[in-house]
Amino acid sequence: MKKILITGGAGFIGSHVVRRFVTRYPEYAIYNLDALTYAGNLENIKDIEDNKNYVFVKGDITDKEFVDSLFYEHKFEGVIHLAAESHVDRSITDPLAFVKTNVIGTMNLLNAFKAVWQDNWEGKRFYHVSTDEVYGTLGAEGLFTETTPYSPNSPYSASKASSDHFVRAYGETYGMPYVLTNCSNNYGPYHFPEKLIPLFINNIIEKKPLPVYGDGKYTRDWLFVKDHAAAIDLAYHKGVNHETYNIGGFNEWQNIDLIKLLCSILDAKLGREQGENQKLITYVKDRPGHDLRYAIDASKINTELGWKPSVTFEEGLEQTVDWFLNNTDWLKSVTSGAYMKYYDEQYSER
Ligand code: NAD
Repeated sequence: MKKILITGGAGFIGSHVVRRFVTRYPEYAIYNLDALTYAGNLENIKDIEDNKNYVFVKGDITDKEFVDSLFYEHKFEGVIHLAAESHVDRSITDPLAFVKTNVIGTMNLLNAFKAVWQDNWEGKRFYHVSTDEVYGTLGAEGLFTETTPYSPNSPYSASKASSDHFVRAYGETYGMPYVLTNCSNNYGPYHFPEKLIPLFINNIIEKKPLPVYGDGKYTRDWLFVKDHAAAIDLAYHKGVNHETYNIGGFNEWQNIDLIKLLCSILDAKLGREQGENQKLITYVKDRPGHDLRYAIDASKINTELGWKPSVTFEEGLEQTVDWFLNNTDWLKSVTSGAYMKYYDEQYSER
């Protein structure tokens, strides 16, 4: 069986990618490597844990000896790398943690992969999952394309940009076959409620204030997580070596409009009066270095690989809200303890 390593598979996007690969490709042995940080949760992939072609490995990608020995033992022919510190706000308070996992951790994987395969790259692939935030910010017009120069503004995006560059450099310098994708903001089931959509769903359910940064005019391009997982599947199998593909749904929303939409959907679902949830909106001090607008031009993956989102934003959001309403135990379990401490520190001074 071909062994494929997926890193970060207990996290939000990784769990959808692992589930997709385990269920669609019985001919692969899928190894899910995850350190189970605050963002990783085995409940996210509980439904597939008994599958014959699935193995969970608890481990830290910053631990070079551990990563080297894992690759030496299993000789993974493919790597799909998602493990990362992924939250911009946390990168502002602790940038070094982002360098360790996102840069050093990626380097450890690249070096271990290279050590095993550098004399025979044929049929091997290192797939790096990255973000549109590496491109910096857009003004009112234009879209990020694959040739937009990198201009990261947050410690998170700087660390992702750095890892992207190393992946590319290993392709150029050592001939390592790689594919890189830069995707817009994801949303969907199992999204950790520190990010905008699940945070607001959780706060609306609990009738807590909805903290909106600045004037709420920041614009993001949203994609349903299962569509991202499908794009990763396609680019992993059909993408051209040494190519980058941008992934996005041509779906831009100003934060405040999105928040009002969520308020209205949840007014209806929770049996509250229309307009009631909007009263929870509270403007808070802005995030430093906040990028005004991200928007992806996904034409290349659309035309060259034939990928398109399978759901509209309205459909995806409805599925997401329903999932959170039907999985309140999951939501409660991830918002207790350490989450509350983080939440209080994050929003108490704003
Ligand atoms: P997440 O924070 O939900 O999950 C990250 C996972 O990585 C967790 O399971 C965590 O335990 C694991 N992890 C963290 N540090 C680790 C380490 N040192 N060793 C091993 N495992 C470790 O993140 P996500 O939102 O699912 O994002 C996954 C990837 O996709 C990241 O690389 C991120 O940069 C990228 N991405 C995310 C988005 C988005 O909207 N969330 C958009 C584009 C790209």
